[in-house]
Amino acid sequence: MERLKIAIQKSGRLSDKSIDLFEKAGISISSNSSRILFASAADFPVDILYLRDDDIPQCVADGVADCGIVGENVIWETGKQVETIEKLGFGKCRLSLAIPRDSQYTGLDWFNGKKIATTYPNILKKVLSENAIKADIHVISGSVEICPVIGLADAIFDIVSTGSTLLSNGLVEKEQMVFSEAVMIKNGNLNAEKEEIIKKLLFRIHAIKAAKSNKYILLNAPKKNLDKIISLLPGMKSPSVVPLADGEWVSVHSVVKENQFWEIIDQLQAEGAQGILVVPIEKMIL
Ligand code: ATP
Ligand code: ZN
Repeated sequence: MERLKIAIQKSGRLSDKSIDLFEKAGISISSNSSRILFASAADFPVDILYLRDDDIPQCVADGVADCGIVGENVIWETGKQVETIEKLGFGKCRLSLAIPRDSQYTGLDWFNGKKIATTYPNILKKVLSENAIKADIHVISGSVEICPVIGLADAIFDIVSTGSTLLSNGLVEKEQMVFSEAVMIKNGNLNAEKEEIIKKLLFRIHAIKAAKSNKYILLNAPKKNLDKIISLLPGMKSPSVVPLADGEWVSVHSVVKENQFWEIIDQLQAEGAQGILVVPIEKMIL
């Protein structure tokens, strides 16, 4: 029986979320102590390889691993040939151009002729050429944000999440150029048995993602307004209506998208709905 080899980040921003995703999918892998490089799931035909995130696209492209979880930024920078099969919704970040706070910023044009420090030279090259900017790229392996202070560069191109690291180095984010999140990738040349395991895994991941953006809602509705209340609840099919001891009232159960819920709560209350409960869903099979 084939097993699917999946590479995930050994230790870093994506590690816990990746392991958590497998846990929720019913695939238990021991949490990684720093020395382990390899783990086998007992309850699903999956083996985990723990790697530095920068090595994951290469390993998947070469077939050392069949699949991987990695940030899109790393895939784009390494330019390796891998197939993205699922966006995972975590590890979200952006790559931005930032400049010293006291510079007179005139728009993207400002970067013409400037020296920009980055750990992402390939993505930056593409971004600059797409915007017809000619600038010098200064490749550095870390601590990009100190470059302008010490005179190594005029500006930086780097990952930004809150901007506070930038601020403490006297920089301001001026242009958000690329948006990235963690994705599942696969080798383009897998056998049918491995593709079948991926299909099962994706089925579970879809159920987890759907559950996350939906909530189970329960509320008490006066029977006379039931039709109106039902019409406010989109639901998966149609809501369940359960009789209550008080014959004038029923309990209505349904599934709503969390963002829709906030839009309709006022309307539900206006129609007399009471005791509204909103409960998280663990898995949702559509
Ligand atoms: P490794 O030791 O595996 O090379 P790393 O230091 O390169 O780790 P991390 O900082 O753990 O990488 O980030 C991993 C990924 O998390 C990034 O490539 C990016 O896709 C994503 N990410 C999300 N938010 C941020 C952020 N604020 N800073 C850096 N990366 C982020
Ligand atoms: Zn890395």
